[in-house]
Amino acid sequence: MIIVMKADIPPESPAVAEVVRMVERYPGVRAEVRKIQGATRLLTEIYLLGETGTIPREPFEEFSGVEKVIRIRERYRAIGRHEAQAEAIGFVYNGIHFSQENFHLFPGLCAVDSAENTEAMFRALREFGIQTTRAGAYKPRTSPYDFQGHGRACLPYVFELAGKYGIRVIAMEITHESHLDEIHAALEVVGQPTGVLLQIGTRNAQNFELLKAVGQQNEFPVLFKRGMGITLDESLNACEYLATGGNHCIVFCLRGVKTNLGDPHRNLVDFGHVPVVKRLTRLPVCIDPSHSVGKRDRAPDGYLDIQHVCAQGVIAGANMALLDFHPRPEEALCDGPQALTLQELELVVRDTQLVRRAYEDRCKLRAELAQKGD
Ligand code: PEP
Ligand code: MN
Repeated sequence: MIIVMKADIPPESPAVAEVVRMVERYPGVRAEVRKIQGATRLLTEIYLLGETGTIPREPFEEFSGVEKVIRIRERYRAIGRHEAQAEAIGFVYNGIHFSQENFHLFPGLCAVDSAENTEAMFRALREFGIQTTRAGAYKPRTSPYDFQGHGRACLPYVFELAGKYGIRVIAMEITHESHLDEIHAALEVVGQPTGVLLQIGTRNAQNFELLKAVGQQNEFPVLFKRGMGITLDESLNACEYLATGGNHCIVFCLRGVKTNLGDPHRNLVDFGHVPVVKRLTRLPVCIDPSHSVGKRDRAPDGYLDIQHVCAQGVIAGANMALLDFHPRPEEALCDGPQALTLQELELVVRDTQLVRRAYEDRCKLRAELAQKGD
C-alpha cells in the first residue's frame, strides 16, 4: 500500500509522523517514507511493507494530510503506476527535470577519446543551448582487444569541460561499482562543475549486484538500458532492484533488442514500447536511436534511419533521447559507424523539437476530442 501525502508536506512533518504511528500499530508491517522532489513541488509517499493484505485504507484516508491511498499491485511494486493512481512527477537533478511530461536531448560521444574531441562536442552543444550529453568513460566491449574507454583518467577533463560549456548532466555508463567512487572522487576534485546520470548498459541489465549498489546510493540518478535479449518484464524487474535499494531517480531506456529480424539495423527498434513503459511505470522513458540502428544508412527522403527512428520514439512521447555524435566519426574509437557529425546537430535539434511539438499537439487533440465526448 502507498499513502500519498498532500503536496508539499515534507517527510519530517507531524502529519507524516501521525500516519507512520498508525501504520506501526499493525503487526508485521513497517513504514518507509520516501521523498520525491518534482520540478514544482515535493511529494511525500509512505510505503507500507510486510503483511499489508488485510489493512483497510479508510483509517488512513481520514487523515487531513493524506491525499490518497493506493493499493499496490504485485507487479513492479516500487516503479509501477498501480492502476494509474500513482503520479509520475519525476525528479530534478542538478537543475534538470526528468519526467514523463517533458523531453531532453542527450547528444554526445559514445566514448571519450580525447580532450580535444570532448571540447569540440561540448562547444557544439552550447551553440544550441543543450545542457545534457552522453560521454562514455568505461566501455563494455564485445572484444577484449577493442578500446575499453579511458576510464577514470579522462574524468577530470570531461567534468571540467562540461562545467566550462554549461553541461549540467552527463549520461555515463558504469560497469563496476568501483566506478561510482571514481566518479564521485573526480567530481569532488574538480569542484562539482556538472552532474552524472549513471548508465547501466544493456549488457549489465541483469547484473544484480551492480543494480543493488547503484540503487543503494542517492547521489546520482540512474539511466537503465533495457536488456537486449530479455523480455520487457525482466528489464522492468531489474529496475525494481534499483528502486527497492532506495534510489527512485530512474530513467528507463529503450535501445532495441538483438535479433536478425531487425536486419539491416543493428537491433530491432522497440520504440513501440515507449507508451507501454509510461503506462506500466512512473519512470521517464529514454530512447537510444544510435544503438538501435547502429549505422548511417539514409532513406530516399534524405534523413538517416537513425533520425527517422528518433522521430518515431519522440512522436510516441519519449522523454529523453541519447544520440551518438563525433567531431570526426571516421576516427572514433567506438561506434564511429553510427555517429552523427557536428554539422548534423542542427538538423537533429530542430527536427526533434518539431516532432516533440507534434506529439504535444497530438495530446491536445486527444484531450479536446475526449472533452467533446463527455
Ligand atoms: C552505450 O550507450 O554506449 C551502450 C554501450 O549502449 P548499450 O548498453 O545500449 O549497448
Ligand atoms: Mn556505443
